[in-house]
Amino acid sequence: MNGQNEHDTHNQTQHPEWMTDLIRVINAPGYTRWRTMVAATGGCAHPIHLAGESLIVDAGTGEILHAYATTDEPSGHLLVACGNRRASVCPACSEVYQADTFQLIRAGLSGGKGVPETVSAHPRAFVTLTAPSFGPVHTRRETNGTLRACRPRNRDKTCEHERPIGCHARHEPHDDRLGQPICPDCYDYTGAVLWQAHAGALWHRFTLAMRQELATLAGMSRRAFGAHVRVSFAKVAEYQRRGLVHFHAIIRLDGPQGAHEPPPDWADHDLLVRAVPPAAARAAVTSPISDLGRWTLRWGDQLDIRPILLDQAADGLSEQAVAGYIAKYATKGAEASGTVDHRLSCPACGGRGRLSLLASCGRCHGTGLKPGLYLDALPVTEHARRMIRTCWELGARPEFAALRLRPWAHMLGFRGHFASKSRAYSVNLGDLRGARALHRAAEARERHGLPALADATTLVLGHWRFAGTGYTQGEAIMAEHIRQRVATARKIATGREDG
Ligand SMILES: [Zn+2]
Ligand SMILES: [Zn+2]
Ligand SMILES: [Zn+2]
Ligand SMILES: [Zn+2]
Repeated sequence: MNGQNEHDTHNQTQHPEWMTDLIRVINAPGYTRWRTMVAATGGCAHPIHLAGESLIVDAGTGEILHAYATTDEPSGHLLVACGNRRASVCPACSEVYQADTFQLIRAGLSGGKGVPETVSAHPRAFVTLTAPSFGPVHTRRETNGTLRACRPRNRDKTCEHERPIGCHARHEPHDDRLGQPICPDCYDYTGAVLWQAHAGALWHRFTLAMRQELATLAGMSRRAFGAHVRVSFAKVAEYQRRGLVHFHAIIRLDGPQGAHEPPPDWADHDLLVRAVPPAAARAAVTSPISDLGRWTLRWGDQLDIRPILLDQAADGLSEQAVAGYIAKYATKGAEASGTVDHRLSCPACGGRGRLSLLASCGRCHGTGLKPGLYLDALPVTEHARRMIRTCWELGARPEFAALRLRPWAHMLGFRGHFASKSRAYSVNLGDLRGARALHRAAEARERHGLPALADATTLVLGHWRFAGTGYTQGEAIMAEHIRQRVATARKIATGREDG
């Protein structure tokens, strides 16, 4: 028996830490309540812990109708969803974000959520704007189903770094070389980073140029055109393998009041489509003056313009497909281009390496890097590392300070909005969230037999303080399990099979 005991003890100490913690979580007295709270966040991967209380008070009599305090919770905290849009950070919250984005994009195409269905008849196009080339990269080429050589060139020709200028490989879809430069030393990393840092500004220039070109084509001044037609945009950024963003955009023409009013007959689909190429060609931003040179930053030659149709057709995209496309990219970060999904800069000094003109940062010892982090040791592709390093070096120069290249180095210099839309396009994400929160609050009141919120005689009082984020190892495992159950239940309920 002694031997058996010894065996048991041995097994005990062999439990990995996460398993010990998982057993603790499941056996904790407040486990059922904890599960309910996690399910209410949808299985959020990094919930925010709040401590505090709220009271619902009858404004007339002062009677407390309902009281809630986190001190009554087994954990002492209330869990609130993190709300992060990125699937690599929080699968649960990104799914909610994706669904909301889908709703608001679709509302702008087909109507709904306060947008009239007549919006479907307005001229609209789906446009993709690309980054220009900063040097040849490995590419998968396919023509009529035949895989072709990446970059066929004379096999004897080399660049000044004595690397072959061509590549005769036929790259498969998951080839790690795709998107990587043929010669990293020939590749213009400075130009690529500066382009990316100005991509948001370039988009803005494009929207202005669109209005100008539309007016010119209509034979009007911009001002006169603006009195008849309102142009609205909804766009999303998508990282390509070469680490530069594309913008996918919906452009729609409305009457001066927006979605509720059709544009005049002459502002038709043809006018819209004709204005895109000259507007894309005209948009340009110049990089700040530097002894490294000045770059005139423009869109790449690849410009894709497709009509958006009520139903799927050969040369166009359906409203449903466009909304799904934008929603999907809205939850993706830069990780598709082989980088990391968190900041690399020191949180104390924001990457500057100093706290003032005189004081060097004690946290990072002046490097500007997050303590314990080394750019050489990052688990990223060589191309992403060069982009990051270029952000880091350019970020130290005063002329590029406004571009904040170090805090955005993990995004390879892009600091624009991932998804954005004009005010007139459709509803806001905030309004959708607000509607959902109100709906939940109303449900909760009904359960407790309380008056509806519309009843002005009740007051909700509360104060909350931040008490941390995230889970222990064992909690994280259970939360992921809960997320999958919530997601499956939602799929069954909505009959959606995408994702
Ligand atoms: Zn979350
Ligand atoms: Zn190649
Ligand atoms: Zn070279
Ligand atoms: Zn620092």
